[in-house]
Amino acid sequence: MRAVVINEYGDVDKLNFQEIETPTAGPGEAIVKIKGAGVNHLDHDIREGISGFPISLPHVPGIEGAGEVVEVGKNVKISKVGDRVGISLLAPCNCCNMCRSGKDNLCYNGHFLGASMWGTYAEYVKCYESQLVPLPENLDYDKAAASHLCFGTAWHMAVHYGDVKAGMTVLVNAAGSGVGTSAIQITKLHGATVIASAGSNDKLEKARHLGADTVINYNSDDLAEAVMEATGGMGVDLVIESVGGKVLVKSLECTAKGGMIVTCGAHAGEEIKMDVIQLFRKNIRFQGSVLSTRLEMEHVFKLVAENKLNPTIHTKLPLEDVRKAGELTRDRNFFGKIILEP
Ligand SMILES: [Zn+2]
Repeated sequence: MRAVVINEYGDVDKLNFQEIETPTAGPGEAIVKIKGAGVNHLDHDIREGISGFPISLPHVPGIEGAGEVVEVGKNVKISKVGDRVGISLLAPCNCCNMCRSGKDNLCYNGHFLGASMWGTYAEYVKCYESQLVPLPENLDYDKAAASHLCFGTAWHMAVHYGDVKAGMTVLVNAAGSGVGTSAIQITKLHGATVIASAGSNDKLEKARHLGADTVINYNSDDLAEAVMEATGGMGVDLVIESVGGKVLVKSLECTAKGGMIVTCGAHAGEEIKMDVIQLFRKNIRFQGSVLSTRLEMEHVFKLVAENKLNPTIHTKLPLEDVRKAGELTRDRNFFGKIILEP
């Protein structure tokens, strides 16, 4: 099969489109023919060798994808050839305390697609049955490949942790990112007032089209001051944060009393200087979040199929143009999701 292989860490020129052996399914495993692979910033970090995941080279990247099951191994219980599926980044063990209490996104023994396992930048991927999430009939593969990580992650942040509801004001940072575009839609769907922030006016204009009520450029304006002005000095009830660094510090300044910051990323600065006094005097909750549960994934697929949520697809490229996708990701020169098609 044709796949993208990394033999050494580095820039986009380390992404090699080449022929490799097609995988076969072992016990409990399935082979999925990839119809669309979602490109994520983690793919960039994995290629650069800065992901924090233990990767062994050579490696096939790609942490998100959708396709058709073409082979199942022994002991596969439910999935069958011909099933249309999304593939979860995390293969949960379904046995640990976290899995057994419905928190499979926090599985202690999980395997990670495109990280500890070979990923979706290929014609076929081998995965565990526990990763397969059935797609609703009318959900196409591109939308599925663009939905699952971003809408799933944003749903877990805004709904599970943030308890978003009508009457709340929500600040969504990195409004042009996959999680940002998803969070704007999810929080609007729940009736919240949404303030979107990003580093370019072009992205902010698009955020407005997605439903953001107010937009702020955090490169040209002081984020905290602009949010306080937009909220009549009250601040926001919930922050969906994935930037880190100065943006996170400023977000803390403009969170309302009793508000919450939910964070899932920190590419702009993983270590920050924080005024803890603000946390306790304003009763702010600071919550980390990662991925989503399987039930949440199934739910967002259903909402996308019903057109209640719409993934923003920046562009779709053939798999051989993987370096172009890598450049767009590296330079943050995109709005929404990039899809690779093998
Ligand atoms: Zn587990």
